[in-house]
Amino acid sequence: MNSNYTVGVLGGGQLGRMLVEAAHNLNIKVAILDSENAPAKQINLIANDVHVTGSFANASDVRKLAANADVITYEIEHVDTKVLEELEEETPYIPNTQWKRIQPSWQTVRRIQDKYAQKQHLAQHGIPTADSKAVGTTSPHGLRDIALELGGLPIMLKARTQAYDGRGNYPVMALSDIEPALQALGDRPLYAERWAPFRKELAVMVVKTQQEAGGNWEESTLAYPAVETIHEDSICKLVYAPPRETSIKIQNQARELARKAVSSFPGTGVFGVELFLLENDTLLINEIAPRPHNSGHYTIEACHMSQYEAHLRAVLPNLAGTIKPRATELTVNAACMLNILGGPAPDSHELLVNAALNTPGAKLHIYGKGPGKPGRKMGHITMTGSSHSEIEQLMHPLVVVADAIRA
Ligand code: ATP
Ligand code: MG
Ligand code: MG
Repeated sequence: MNSNYTVGVLGGGQLGRMLVEAAHNLNIKVAILDSENAPAKQINLIANDVHVTGSFANASDVRKLAANADVITYEIEHVDTKVLEELEEETPYIPNTQWKRIQPSWQTVRRIQDKYAQKQHLAQHGIPTADSKAVGTTSPHGLRDIALELGGLPIMLKARTQAYDGRGNYPVMALSDIEPALQALGDRPLYAERWAPFRKELAVMVVKTQQEAGGNWEESTLAYPAVETIHEDSICKLVYAPPRETSIKIQNQARELARKAVSSFPGTGVFGVELFLLENDTLLINEIAPRPHNSGHYTIEACHMSQYEAHLRAVLPNLAGTIKPRATELTVNAACMLNILGGPAPDSHELLVNAALNTPGAKLHIYGKGPGKPGRKMGHITMTGSSHSEIEQLMHPLVVVADAIRA
């Protein structure tokens, strides 16, 4: 294996940090572009000569990272894609290869980072999503008309860009919510989505790779298991793998739909696909992330290959072909992941950290983010076992502590 390639990552939060953890085992060097002492840099001092202090939204900082890395990838989609487009024009390939340096493609990220453009892309590729409409008005009447075109209230008003952890969503349940929704989000580009009356939320990580075959690139996608995600206030709280009370048939349909959706985007890497399972058992795609994802943390303890290792391998020319179907399967019967979210005081979440430290079998991941803020992702806990009822018993007291912190 040629491990001389340096992978440059735009963003150095918890996802970048877990990419670095996976990279260490493969002896892959990872250069991070983010603020000084970002979580991914703290554990990667060996790459201090190639890290860049700055922002993934700043063109000259992105250029500095590109100068230090063979391949550029992402742990966040809110990056400057204009400079990536320029970089690709200047040096499209890793020298002496036909392997694109920017993985997945900047075109993929540009399309995904505008959630409305993403929805249109999915619809064009025959992927079912909740109906949506661009909102070009800040007038309450205008929004009411758009809601009517979508079949009436409720709707979810969403920011098209810079959205994460539900910050950018406003549920419009009744006419009286229209004005506060526009007040909360009105200064951002918006779109409106028909309400999805889901029975469950599911997610599937998909790894997309390409291999050379007879002078051409052959693409392949592999799906990780379907998982159940539980969100509170639009932020992910719990993940169950496999999903509870969901037939194998639906799980397989979710995996297939996720694979189909990811196949429509150029470039390699892992993608997080969020889905709604409706009451009548139909599936809609909520959104796609072109990077490792919160719903895939469980893969570290519960699958043959973690999403982080899969991502690194997928973006590198010499390793992409080494990801085999078994890699994405579970090694355990059941896994559960609980996010450690910040509470009202900077150290509120420490209660949950301590509870996890005292729970046998709880695998604790702390991200090194410093003081907590309400709803900030500070860490997570994964539990694996022979059945959901077994791990739910162990996890339950931790969920109680998590709820007390958020209350
Ligand atoms: P993420 O942190 O996953 O990127 P986000 O800020 O991009 O989140 P979404 O994934 O669009 O936000 O929405 C967050 C949550 O809000 C969803 O997981 C779901 O619980 C709820 N939600 C979003 N869209 C709808 C909808 N159309 N109908 C009902 N609930 C919705
Ligand atoms: Mg999102
Ligand atoms: Mg989401």
